[in-house]
Amino acid sequence: MTAASGELNENLAQVRGRIALAAARVGRRSEEIKLVAVSKTHSAKKIQQLYEAGVRHFGENRVQERESKLAALAGVTATWHMIGHLQKNKTARAVQLFESVDSVDSLVLAEKLNRARDELNLTPEDGVPHRLRVLIEIKLDPEPAKSGIDGESLPRLVQAIMRLPHLHLCGLMGVPPYFDDPEQARPYFRRLRELRDEVCQQMGYEMLPVLSIGMSHDMEVAIEEGATEVRVGTALFGEREKG
Ligand SMILES: *Cc1c(COP(=O)(O)O)cnc(C)c1O
Repeated sequence: MTAASGELNENLAQVRGRIALAAARVGRRSEEIKLVAVSKTHSAKKIQQLYEAGVRHFGENRVQERESKLAALAGVTATWHMIGHLQKNKTARAVQLFESVDSVDSLVLAEKLNRARDELNLTPEDGVPHRLRVLIEIKLDPEPAKSGIDGESLPRLVQAIMRLPHLHLCGLMGVPPYFDDPEQARPYFRRLRELRDEVCQQMGYEMLPVLSIGMSHDMEVAIEEGATEVRVGTALFGEREKG
């Protein structure tokens, strides 16, 4: 084992421990919380090491970056999540490179993904669900540059996406503003859960089980507020190069 992989294994054990403790505090089982390792800016080698250590979900925020690491990760059969803003001219590539798009923020984007998935002409032999898993990204951070839709537009977007036959809408994703004290993110996480509960109630059944909330510094609070997926970069891989 190299020094670097020892450090990654240690980070992974620490993150798993944090998830387990937070889950236990609110009477949840840690298996209910999926760890998505956010590998943007990090090497294929490190991704491979985390995969060997048992991580099965990875997140990237750019189509091109996922593509650039593809050849080096041929043996990694993980679930890849697109977690960044997806440009509409990249949907054809995105449906080939990702098993989930967690950052759907418009009906136009959803329709393009639906069409691109259809055009893959998947057959059962491909062993891939014909519907692409998607989450809707809610804008939790009031800063104008941040992505996601406003909560008020959620019911209409949910209804429209439900009608797209090649997408499987599973839940919501959100990124609150950054606070030094993660406790301050709690109302934002709670708001996301309440939005989900409201829209499910309006439509009559429990159909959006996924809440993708929580990152390296605030995953405990997110888990206490109902996260089913946490997206963790820095706490696993170390600091990103500032670019
Ligand atoms: C980079 C990123 C993360 C991971 O952030 P860390 O603070 O490094 O854990 C999570 N979610 C999104 C959408 C990101 O872009």
